[in-house]
Amino acid sequence: MTSPITFSGSPLDRVALARRDAAWLETQRTDEATRFLPLWRLEPLIELGPPRSLAWATQALLAGLEPAPPTVLLGIDAGVAHFAVDVSAVEDPEAAFGVADVARFEELRAVAGQLASEDAAIAAQARSFVDWHGRHPFCPACGGQTVAERAGAHRRCIACGAEHFPRTDPVAIAVVTQGDRCLLGRSPGWPETMFSALAGFVEPGETLEEAVRREVLEETSVRVGSVRYRTSQPWPFPSSLMIGCIGQATSEAIRIDPAEIEEARWFHRPEVLEALAGVGRTLTVPPPFAVAHHLIRTWAEGADG
Ligand SMILES: [Zn+2]
Repeated sequence: MTSPITFSGSPLDRVALARRDAAWLETQRTDEATRFLPLWRLEPLIELGPPRSLAWATQALLAGLEPAPPTVLLGIDAGVAHFAVDVSAVEDPEAAFGVADVARFEELRAVAGQLASEDAAIAAQARSFVDWHGRHPFCPACGGQTVAERAGAHRRCIACGAEHFPRTDPVAIAVVTQGDRCLLGRSPGWPETMFSALAGFVEPGETLEEAVRREVLEETSVRVGSVRYRTSQPWPFPSSLMIGCIGQATSEAIRIDPAEIEEARWFHRPEVLEALAGVGRTLTVPPPFAVAHHLIRTWAEGADG
């Protein structure tokens, strides 16, 4: 099923139970039907197309690689196991794999908009997992060496036994509204007419709603009352979850924190609708690739207060 939220809607079943079975895993790794998505320095291999799509390999491609590259079981689809494989150690991998005429390794952020939503979601999962494994060869508790378990679902320290799980960093992102207006901000370096929802990491010891109120207050001095969750988006750079909310402002005056944003303004609904339609002259909003687009649209089209 096609998902409107980029990086969501993966068709893969992550098989939490089956991946505990070492014999089953070994069968999957050596099965000729099993598919491997190579990532080189976090860039997935993409077919040149058209259409652009993930370039899956079979285990034959990996047979000659020494040492064996790290793999992560992403899940199964129609009975076929799908792994990510980190081939970062291979020099000039497109030539080495003989695929230069049909596929290339590409930065996911640049290519995601050209992929089917299912492929973008699988690539996002693969990128976040491979990145996390690459950053956690050692135990943060004792400094010992860690090894992947359950086909990459987590890692265990071989010195102290601690289990370490891939982390996802929650980011609160909010469209703040007051009557027929919404509050949007512009980050340093953006085009002059480009504005988006305000966003920031949720900090330890606060709720999502508190994070929205704190971020908006810090960045714009606008106070927010009620906050309602709308939708979320996995953001694999490296591993965030954008949690989209709509908040009700209880104050109006804007005083920005220039260390965080360059400008914030209240925009009236007709101006926002023009921007969403791509015909705005004074305002540009992020494309549908970003969850901010969907939040802004939800409010502007009256689907939420
Ligand atoms: Zn340890």
